[in-house]
Amino acid sequence: MSDIQDVVIIGSGPAGYTAAIYLGRAGYRPLVIAGALTPGGQLVNTTTVENFPGFPDGILGPDLMDAMQRQAEQFGARLVWDDVVSVDFGDDVHTVTCDQGDVFQARTVVVTTGSTVRKLQVPGEETFAGRGVSYCATCDGFFFRNKPIVVVGGGDSACEEALFLTRFGSSVTLIHRRDEFRASKIMQERVRSNPDITLMMNTVVERVNGSDAGAESITVRNRATDEVTDVPANGIFVAIGHTPATDFLHGALALDDDGYILVDGASTRTSVPGVFAAGDAVDRVYRQAISAAGMGCRAALDAQRYLSGD
Ligand SMILES: Cc1cc2nc3c(=O)[nH]c(=O)nc-3n(C[C@H](O)[C@H](O)[C@H](O)COP(=O)(O)OP(=O)(O)OC[C@H]3O[C@@H](n4cnc5c(N)ncnc54)[C@H](O)[C@@H]3O)c2cc1C
Repeated sequence: MSDIQDVVIIGSGPAGYTAAIYLGRAGYRPLVIAGALTPGGQLVNTTTVENFPGFPDGILGPDLMDAMQRQAEQFGARLVWDDVVSVDFGDDVHTVTCDQGDVFQARTVVVTTGSTVRKLQVPGEETFAGRGVSYCATCDGFFFRNKPIVVVGGGDSACEEALFLTRFGSSVTLIHRRDEFRASKIMQERVRSNPDITLMMNTVVERVNGSDAGAESITVRNRATDEVTDVPANGIFVAIGHTPATDFLHGALALDDDGYILVDGASTRTSVPGVFAAGDAVDRVYRQAISAAGMGCRAALDAQRYLSGD
């Protein structure tokens, strides 16, 4: 086992690298356990990011994360390309165990493991991901101005995304596999009373279709009648939920019923002193690179205060 670190950061998305930059510049040498499958986080799987401040012409997601990594390393962050599989949070020293067997001890831990989007798992979804299929209306709605859009899902997020996307689409169709929405009553009413949204209930997506130019339609099946139809769609927004990457924490930190890490008010303090959390593993509302980065900054400042005994 290595020496006791001041700080271990778990995760290398915008929240993790921002925390690393701040803690590095504060004189700590944060150890970042970057994750084995998607170091760099969710933005590594996307194309152009147009809403991260400072890049008026947009920047490719992988390039943005590469720049954040270099910036963190420049200020002394050390990276480990592995997944954390278990944690043992003690009173003063916390222990983190990685998949390859490395064990690290630290006085503070910042958890920034993000979340993964739930996928439809139908043919064409992967092929047209980033070329029509999207998991974030705030991020990608703008790309589908005056184009037909569908939103898939039945919760508050799906309704909210459908309402938001009426600003862009030539049409917006909300597709839900049940005959009732899960969304709150008020959201349902807003969707139902919006003349720009067409509802297709009791309907499942079977396939995403398109060409080299991108997605063009989806094939859907009505569950009551088994009728199969094609719905024109250049933008397909999948809003069937996110899963926070917090399985390895179960029992060690207070989580909500869906597995999001609970923090104390506006701070990033978790249920264990010295353990902080930031980004999409905490935040089920905003889920943006800039909001994750902002929270990573706050976690770094909270950790610094803890380390200096303030
Ligand atoms: C396709 C797509 C496009 C998007 N486009 C935009 C956009 O244009 N603009 C925008 O603002 N937002 C966009 N988002 C949302 C944005 O990517 C997220 O809000 C942001 O990445 C969240 O940052 P994070 O640091 O909390 O987590 P993530 O980016 O999810 O990073 C989590 C990190 O934790 C690591 N990790 C997970 N589990 C473990 C473990 N057990 N051990 C060690 N490491 C672990 C992962 O490897 C990863 O490095 C997009 C999301 C997706 C999916």
